[in-house]
Amino acid sequence: MSTYTVIGGGIAGASIAYHLAKTGNSVTVYDRYDKGQATTASAGIICPWVSQRRNKKWYRLVQEGARYYPDFIQELEETTGQFTGYKRNGAICLFKDERIQQLAYERISAKQDGSPEMGDVYKLTKAEVKEMHPHLTDCYPAVFVEGGGQIRGESLLSALKEGISLHGGKWIQQAIKPEEAEGTVIYAAGAWAGEYYQTPLVRHQRAELLHLKLDDAYQSKETPVVMGLGPMYIVGTDHNQFAIGTTHEDTEDFSIAPSEENQQYLHHEAMRYFPETTIQDQFMAVGLRPFTRDSLPYIGWTADHIFSVNGLGSTGLTAGPVIGREVAAYLTDKETVLNLEDYAYL
Ligand SMILES: Cc1cc2nc3c(=O)[nH]c(=O)nc-3n(C[C@H](O)[C@H](O)[C@H](O)COP(=O)(O)OP(=O)(O)OC[C@H]3O[C@@H](n4cnc5c(N)ncnc54)[C@H](O)[C@@H]3O)c2cc1C
Repeated sequence: MSTYTVIGGGIAGASIAYHLAKTGNSVTVYDRYDKGQATTASAGIICPWVSQRRNKKWYRLVQEGARYYPDFIQELEETTGQFTGYKRNGAICLFKDERIQQLAYERISAKQDGSPEMGDVYKLTKAEVKEMHPHLTDCYPAVFVEGGGQIRGESLLSALKEGISLHGGKWIQQAIKPEEAEGTVIYAAGAWAGEYYQTPLVRHQRAELLHLKLDDAYQSKETPVVMGLGPMYIVGTDHNQFAIGTTHEDTEDFSIAPSEENQQYLHHEAMRYFPETTIQDQFMAVGLRPFTRDSLPYIGWTADHIFSVNGLGSTGLTAGPVIGREVAAYLTDKETVLNLEDYAYL
């Protein structure tokens, strides 16, 4: 049994701590729960196969992340008795017209071979989109990806916290003085990295999501995730309630006061996707996404006894659980599925 101190209790730190505690190690997590913690603000979409990003190391990580999710969640929910909000409800990916829909269908379905967890992939006409998601506009054709899903960041963290405790670990809701850390330190401080230890350069991006409620007249069934045009996406959060986002703002500021301008922009976007119903704004969720070089997560030693994990970017909830599994295996000299040297690029 080895001793680990984890600094930072977002998905990166919590998942590593859970996997280390599960294998009998002594683990203590210190989390300051800063306002703007990315994990809690996140939309929680798990659908990496539709991205047009070409970075192969990133893709291997998120692909393995999506593959691991169902087993990981089943085990976590059974162990803790807590629901994480994980649903494999599919993803509707909208496109401007049928020509782009066809190109996207070819690009996305080509990934099925190496990723059986994607499930079926097929085209939807505008009318079929409306049938599957009655609130949604019928202006755009789509590609449906059966394996797409979503998770609630806050519920996932709560279950991980419980899991860590059930496996004998500790969770302390405060900062720790670096000199008090015992054993190996896992430094997973998200946007707040660099305060304590030398880490790869971490910059951050402010991202806002508008949570909204639709007119009750449209009683909806369980709806899939919607990947809209450009960077826009929509997830269901409750009965007739959705979150739409997101904004991307590079900043050095740590303020998380919602911006009125962004709220208006997102409300306007919501009217475009939900044209036939009244939209009531509920609140804005603001989070700080951490990025490292080339937007590729950094996973590796940064000093003697300091192992840093950061830069999970815009797909951290997808990659977080598998990073936890892999880092715990690596630190305890077990075989990893991914080659973690790909991410230790300092
Ligand atoms: C609006 C938004 C939407 C997103 N949507 C998606 C999505 O749909 N799908 C997806 O896969 N990903 C999504 N992401 C990305 C994902 O949320 C992040 O990549 C991920 O949560 C980052 O996790 P983290 O643990 O590195 O950082 P965080 O979750 O930010 O956690 C870092 C933690 O470290 C703590 N900390 C820092 N310094 C100290 C210290 N000295 N002592 C103690 N504690 C400390 C902080 O208080 C914080 O709690 C989204 C992000 C945002 C903001």
